[in-house]
Amino acid sequence: MDIKEMLAGKTALVTGAASGIGKAHVEVFARAGARVIAADIQEDRGQAVVEAVNAAGGEARFVRLDVTSPADWQHAVAVAIAAYGRLTTLVNNAGIYHPGGVEEETEEGWSRMVAINQTSVWLGMKAAMPELLKTGNAAIVNISSLYGLVGSPGSLSYHATKGAVRLMSKSAALEYVKRGVRVNSIHPGQIRTPILGNLTPELDAAIKAAIPMGDMGEPEDIAHGSLFLCSDLARYITGIEMPIDGGWSAA
Ligand code: NAD
Repeated sequence: MDIKEMLAGKTALVTGAASGIGKAHVEVFARAGARVIAADIQEDRGQAVVEAVNAAGGEARFVRLDVTSPADWQHAVAVAIAAYGRLTTLVNNAGIYHPGGVEEETEEGWSRMVAINQTSVWLGMKAAMPELLKTGNAAIVNISSLYGLVGSPGSLSYHATKGAVRLMSKSAALEYVKRGVRVNSIHPGQIRTPILGNLTPELDAAIKAAIPMGDMGEPEDIAHGSLFLCSDLARYITGIEMPIDGGWSAA
């Protein structure tokens, strides 16, 4: 399917862009005509992503951004404006996962999870909003998780952060609903990326068996949902939670 032009004229800042779902966003958004600022703490891998995109005829730049740092956010937005003059699109994607139930999770683990998965989403929206507002037609996608919609045992802090991102998105959507900034959340199911770690064949089979479509998703499946939500085709859509999960949340 030809997605060329879907994001023509847009300038997008994508976090967690060196790997998995963020990397797919940079590639898909560039193919759709957006100019992309690819942000991550992994500099070499992030640079490699933008070099490949530019070699394929796209327009992308890398910026080092630790999403827990307000100063890094200011810098990343400034880089976007210096490079492209405007910022229309923000994808808050960077995130981490570690297991830990009520008694296993540590204060350090909890704080790290909250800082990287949740506080970062607020910091990003706060830093980008003045520029997004100037465009009068902007979109934010916050990458939550299926685990932001339903519970499971043994991942308490991850669920806490992803559930928070869901409602932070709805709250921001309503706050800016008359000012030209749409805000939506995406809730990936199990997507084949490094965040899943090394799955044993047994665990891999068990995960697939639990998914109605019978297989995990690819990072591009998430980027394609984002592509739609960030395009003008979605101009009447704000405050929604979009599961992309092979039917898991329907069961
Ligand atoms: P990934 O590990 O492949 O990529 C995550 C990226 O985030 C990495 O490039 C990493 O360097 C970056 N990152 C981590 N901490 C950062 C920080 N402090 N500042 C900037 N960048 C940082 O994982 P992924 O699967 O692509 O995950 C992307 C998002 O999707 C995450 O928010 C994750 O929770 C969410 N998600 C993934 C799945 C899945 O099955 N893969 C399911 C649901 C939700």
